[in-house]
Amino acid sequence: MLSDEVFMREALKEAEAAFSQGEVPVGAVLVHQGKIIARAHNLVESKRDASAHAEMLCLKMGAEALSNWRLLGSTLYCTLEPCPMCAGAMIHSRLERLVWGAPDIRCGAHGSWVNLLDTEHPIHQLLVTSDVLREECAVLMRNFFKQKRSKKKEKVTIPNVTENLDLDRSESSRDWRD
Ligand SMILES: [Zn+2]
Repeated sequence: MLSDEVFMREALKEAEAAFSQGEVPVGAVLVHQGKIIARAHNLVESKRDASAHAEMLCLKMGAEALSNWRLLGSTLYCTLEPCPMCAGAMIHSRLERLVWGAPDIRCGAHGSWVNLLDTEHPIHQLLVTSDVLREECAVLMRNFFKQKRSKKKEKVTIPNVTENLDLDRSESSRDWRD
């Protein structure tokens, strides 16, 4: 859908803002009745809060904007497949629809790691569209970790660095582990 791409581009702007702040570049916008009512990007490092994912921040801001924790009729656009924490929060929030961009191979809760979102839920079922502007969302992540690796390389030389995409959102990630 064209409008999905339009809103995903807004989420990408948030992800770019995260990138420029040294945060893992994930962005999200929440749309209600065709308008963006909340926008946020990953702030795990600056808030020193492992739960400060773009989606969580966006859901909180959206609840404030609507004066209601039930985000009925709202769609969340996120540049990355959400993790189980965020997917759970989306179900609790009664979010109507989720649109995500690039898969998160390590933490994704829509099939990459686990699949919470396609699992039938007794209270609420989200509509999900995936892979919207997938490449653009993924390139941002790839560039971020590439930059991080080359910065680290300046200090130490570690052999056998894999080109594995590390999509972990915390700086304390495992770039060097495998
Ligand atoms: Zn998350």
